[in-house]
Amino acid sequence: MNERKFEQLELSAPIQRALSERGYTKPSPIQAKAIPLLLKGGDLLACAQTGTGKTAAFALPLLHNIASCGRKPFRRGVRHLVLTPTRELAGQVADSFKIYGKYIKFSTGLVYGGVSEKPQIKQLFQGLDVLVACPGRLIDLMDQGHVDLSQVETFILDEADRMLDMGFIRDIRKIESKLPKKRQTLLFSATMATEITKLGQAMLYKPDEVRIAPQGSTAEKVDQQVLFLGKNAKQKLILDMLHRRFDDNQEELSLIFTRTKHGAKNLAKKFIQEGLSADSIHGNKSQSAREKTLDRYRQGEIDILVATDVAARGIDVKNITLVVNYDLPMEPDAYVHRIGRTARAGKSGQAISFCTEEEVALLRQVERLIKKPIPVKRDHDYHLQEVEDLHTSKRPVKKPAQGRRSGASAGSRSRGRPNRTANKRGKPFRSGAGGNGGSSERTSSGRRNYQR
Ligand code: AMP
Repeated sequence: MNERKFEQLELSAPIQRALSERGYTKPSPIQAKAIPLLLKGGDLLACAQTGTGKTAAFALPLLHNIASCGRKPFRRGVRHLVLTPTRELAGQVADSFKIYGKYIKFSTGLVYGGVSEKPQIKQLFQGLDVLVACPGRLIDLMDQGHVDLSQVETFILDEADRMLDMGFIRDIRKIESKLPKKRQTLLFSATMATEITKLGQAMLYKPDEVRIAPQGSTAEKVDQQVLFLGKNAKQKLILDMLHRRFDDNQEELSLIFTRTKHGAKNLAKKFIQEGLSADSIHGNKSQSAREKTLDRYRQGEIDILVATDVAARGIDVKNITLVVNYDLPMEPDAYVHRIGRTARAGKSGQAISFCTEEEVALLRQVERLIKKPIPVKRDHDYHLQEVEDLHTSKRPVKKPAQGRRSGASAGSRSRGRPNRTANKRGKPFRSGAGGNGGSSERTSSGRRNYQR
């Protein structure tokens, strides 16, 4: 099935043209399986990791539908609704629609928090063929009467597992309650945890199921390694690694994950002090500052991006060849998402995780989820045999502290002025704190909204 070409899928000519311009010849496995099913109009429950081409898997049949049916959206109405957990992902999904739908006349809108409502209200007023939205802001606009979901034809939940992790379940249910019963519903998730299956049972009607990766499986092409070391050695080791990497004249991009927003900000600052080209993205940065940083990273103006989990969720940058888990994530699923940032679009990549004595329990959680041990990298300057022994022994280790989300630091709720640091060309640019001042934001209706 995967050997099929795009021409063999019954997608309309303008879509085929956009795809061939983009250089896509063969559908990816998720596309080869999902597109024919979706063209028939049925519901779909799809388990696919990031980087598998899942966006096109739902965007292409939807665009085909728009191209072959002349129906126009009515005022404040939406024909096809895509929900995503983060603003970054929403932006990327909307961009993908524009790329694949380049030769089709249709309207798209983007709705997410952290920016002014006015332009969003304006675009909704005309009615939209495709709306890509984050749940919190969509509910706000719904409650104010700016959007009418009563005639939605297709409802897509993208990265549903992440939406549940971020506490969006009630918002999703509320949005779903406003949709017509007769519609096509698609649910995409990187993992098939019990909650996802339950959500699927509640919202999908006799869905076809497509599984591209077994539960918790990590991107196949990622070379994974773990380093056991002391807490105080992390910074020196990462600096050594990055200096060595760039001394070797590598043009590729590195992505470093920290557990807290402060950690991300401070580490990027340290890299810059050390003459490396770096910046950070995290929930304390304003939306526009995050987008600017991401753009610079995508353009290769920044070599190293330090990020927290939530801020990095939607990153689709092709040349990331190294992911470092500077801190292991509190939730094992996040490991799968993190390393999925590399080895994208058929390329290979490396994922290195640092593990201190305090993180052994987290590493065990990850290995249980991915159902295999991560090979150990023994760097003789840093390797701590006693930490490795602790990991290998079956002895119980201290449980990771619960109650704090990865990527959210408790001590970072104050509003901060943006820091000025130097960019690759020595010009100052904004980095660090700013924006909404917390891992969650208050929506205009006063609810807490976890779009970071
Ligand atoms: P996604 O999993 O949707 O985030 O897509 C991962 C990456 O694969 C994106 O950069 C897409 O542009 C790219 N991609 C998606 N489908 C194909 C395809 N059939 N051929 C080549 N690249 C693709």
